[in-house]
Amino acid sequence: VRELVLLNHIYLANAQLDAATVVIPPGDDMGCVRIGSQEVLVTVDQIVDGVHFNLAATRLEKIARKAITRNLSDVAAMAAIPVAAVAAALLPRDLGQDRAEALFDAMRATANDYRCPLIGGDIGIYAGPLVLTVTIIARPGPVAPARRSGATPGQGIFVTGVLGGSLLTYQGHTHHLDFEPRLAVALRLAELLGETGIFRGAMIDLSDGLATDLGHICTASNVTAELWPHCLPISPALAGDRLPGAPGAWQHALTDGEDYELCFTAAVEAMEGLTSLEGVPVTHVGTILPPRSGPTISLKWPDGRVEPLTARGWEHHSS
Ligand SMILES: [Mg+2]
Repeated sequence: VRELVLLNHIYLANAQLDAATVVIPPGDDMGCVRIGSQEVLVTVDQIVDGVHFNLAATRLEKIARKAITRNLSDVAAMAAIPVAAVAAALLPRDLGQDRAEALFDAMRATANDYRCPLIGGDIGIYAGPLVLTVTIIARPGPVAPARRSGATPGQGIFVTGVLGGSLLTYQGHTHHLDFEPRLAVALRLAELLGETGIFRGAMIDLSDGLATDLGHICTASNVTAELWPHCLPISPALAGDRLPGAPGAWQHALTDGEDYELCFTAAVEAMEGLTSLEGVPVTHVGTILPPRSGPTISLKWPDGRVEPLTARGWEHHSS
């Protein structure tokens, strides 16, 4: 994961783009280009056996589903509407024709479930692990795409669903495979927070954990944040100290990653009394603060104690 992040930085540093065509440059959950009068959003993502899933221990259909849904989570992060997908696959030699067909059948079925038909692809066979690469194109929802840069001091920080424990299986549900991309919630938010065609707030989907992903909002928006760890919605998969030596469920909620929930900022009044959208819980977990020297994100406990957040997503998780 560290290597992937490093490569992203190389790409961002070298990008020289025409602002008339490129509406949203690299650095958000999707890029956006203008084609004639139409704005088109695009994202590409890759999953690799041994890195993002374990082929030997996972049903092929679930892997195929995840290849589509983690891209759809990026579409949700922009409050956009999926249009179509294309997929490229590198298959290990020993996978076999039947399993290859089952894989693509499941990708196609998932894409259809979300009205984002698979319209093309490329399949190769080689002496290496299974790699699935999916590109999704989308169009803007009811307002201009939500960005990471839309947070302003005084806004509340909100998350959908529950966080942490995404790799654990609880009541037959393994979150990192079975999650629901929050497309419907994002469109409701765009209606709720959209004003004069603009999404009043910032939004990102939680792939690397709230600590890391909220950090991206802070950087893009030039703000800092205060999180309330005691308010985080904790996944039931973490209940009852299921992980020996666990540092605390709230810490898992901040750093486990692969939640594929939405984190967004909004005027607190706009969210007053709202505890769910489209049947999905929405929780107020902190406040956006002005830029300052020191830690980007701090934790505020009920007794008023404030401490810097130093653990950062996967980096912390893997150390
Ligand atoms: Mg994302």
